[in-house]
Amino acid sequence: MDIAIVGGGIGGLVAALALQDRGFTPTIYESAADMRELGVGINLLPHAVRVLDALGLRERLLESGIATAELLYFNKFGQRIWREPRGLEAGYAWPQVSIHRGRLHGLLHAEAIARLGPERVVHGHHLAALDTSAEHPLLHFTERSSGQSRASVACDVAIGADGIHSRVRRHFYPDEGPPIWNGAILWRAMTEGAPFLTGRSMFMAGHANQKFVCYPISRAHLDRGSSLINWVAELRFDPDRPFAREDWNRKVDRETFLPAFRDWRFDWLDIPALIEGAAEVFEYPMVDRDPVARWSFGRVSLLGDAAHPMYPVGSNGASQAILDAEALAQALATTPGPAAALAAYEAVRLEPTAAIVRANRNQGPEQVMQLVEERAPQGFANLDDVVSPDELEGIAARYKQIAGFDRKTLNSLAGGGRG
Ligand SMILES: Cc1cc2nc3c(=O)[nH]c(=O)nc-3n(C[C@H](O)[C@H](O)[C@H](O)COP(=O)(O)OP(=O)(O)OC[C@H]3O[C@@H](n4cnc5c(N)ncnc54)[C@H](O)[C@@H]3O)c2cc1C
Repeated sequence: MDIAIVGGGIGGLVAALALQDRGFTPTIYESAADMRELGVGINLLPHAVRVLDALGLRERLLESGIATAELLYFNKFGQRIWREPRGLEAGYAWPQVSIHRGRLHGLLHAEAIARLGPERVVHGHHLAALDTSAEHPLLHFTERSSGQSRASVACDVAIGADGIHSRVRRHFYPDEGPPIWNGAILWRAMTEGAPFLTGRSMFMAGHANQKFVCYPISRAHLDRGSSLINWVAELRFDPDRPFAREDWNRKVDRETFLPAFRDWRFDWLDIPALIEGAAEVFEYPMVDRDPVARWSFGRVSLLGDAAHPMYPVGSNGASQAILDAEALAQALATTPGPAAALAAYEAVRLEPTAAIVRANRNQGPEQVMQLVEERAPQGFANLDDVVSPDELEGIAARYKQIAGFDRKTLNSLAGGGRG
């Protein structure tokens, strides 16, 4: 079966590896002319690490990234609201991994070339149009910078793993328009510094209108007593104000947001110093899209951000793309007929990911910070007077169920092979 994967990002590459693992020989068509390790930090939740573990990649992940030990929420004064163990520390059979997105991408890319052969990871092929008038999809590619046409490709199955601006999605939803901005802007960067808290802690501080997210992403740094700290500063503006198109690589001056964080000098971490220590800062608007009713149309389907772009809340962007990849490979391997297999894949993945898109619009598990901000804007002497442990527990547990990484359910799959 000729399977064409449009887009060689995290989702497309894992889909190719999962398909290869089940005996298929897919081909990836990637718009970028060559492989570049772009981005800053990204998180993989235990259920996504489980998929990569089954592909033999667990050790490679942990050589590069950090097995996150705990997640904490603080108010804007650095007072602790919530702490929970994560990954192995929380009793999961798989770690949560915080890692440099470019390293992860590079690792997956190298594996795809090694396992599939370089001729199946094709760069410089930008999908310009898709023809679905016949039974077999026909893909028309160009070379993006010159606009020159490439040879068109007919295939048995086409998977749109081409990210938030998916051309494949636009073919089926031509009137959808640009992603929806909620008014928040994220400034993302990395700073080398001293390890904070456990050295493997991830935290968020602030509230819905102003937030700081922080976690270390490099095992090599930690091994030598340092920390490569990924951070995201977030401020909320009027969503009607015009804003530039989302681009993961847009660099900006930190003075656009640093003044808002000037007082955030916690006794356990100096946030302004962290911001000043970064070599470069990238700006990204908080965008997503409304869930759609269908991803699969005959022999074509969508995967990852092309299928369900979501706010980067709750560490789900890459994790859900990886779960899609696994479900797609499973469906194609076990369901007779490509169109039926793609329908089966959609049946397993569309509704759960739509639920996460919706939960993330409501701030996902981070809503506890807003709760405390509303009830105790000047800080607190005793957290229990502001919010009960039961209320906090309930919010955290509900989100884990929605995002599919409830510990009991996930661990029941350990040792059971593919699920
Ligand atoms: C450059 C870049 C940097 C990022 N940095 C971060 C980060 O620091 N932190 C974070 O949390 N998330 C980051 N992300 C997003 C994150 O990778 C995704 O949210 C998540 O991994 C889901 O992956 P995906 O494969 O669906 O989409 P993506 O990882 O976005 O991959 C989509 C791929 O499709 C390719 N493509 C797009 N259009 C076409 C086309 N018409 N034809 C062929 N190929 C096409 C793109 O070049 C890209 O390689 C970044 C994405 C990109 C592209």
